[in-house]
Amino acid sequence: MSDTKKTNEDWKKELPADVYSVTRESGTEAPFTGKFYKHDEQGNYVCSNCGVELFSSDSKFDSGSGWPSFDKVKNSESVNLISDNSHGMQRTEVTCKNCDAHLGHVFEDGPIDPSRETTGQRFCINSLSLDFKKDSEINTK
Ligand code: FE
Repeated sequence: MSDTKKTNEDWKKELPADVYSVTRESGTEAPFTGKFYKHDEQGNYVCSNCGVELFSSDSKFDSGSGWPSFDKVKNSESVNLISDNSHGMQRTEVTCKNCDAHLGHVFEDGPIDPSRETTGQRFCINSLSLDFKKDSEINTK
């Protein structure tokens, strides 16, 4: 079955409960607990639900927030940005465009580095929404 056609019932059967809670119920993992918060290998972060490439390790930075943080998306076509007024806050939710998984939120207080064409954005992403592929793993596919 294509990832875009799966229902929440389908996802619930195949995803670990903690991944399902974050990606399909817009949950948030506790800060400083995620497996990628301090991860610094070279490669690409992909959607934990469907495997689409989302962020390059080149854009990862330590925001101090407790969640993996990126200053840009690898390809802006791979995510949806959605206005989110839940929990009494005005935020912008980031989801996977391919499978609708909830990834996290984007804020406008990111680093600005003209040498890397950053946009001043901070993508604050749950580790549970991501998997990691080393450059060598991607190049062999
Ligand atoms: Fe996805």
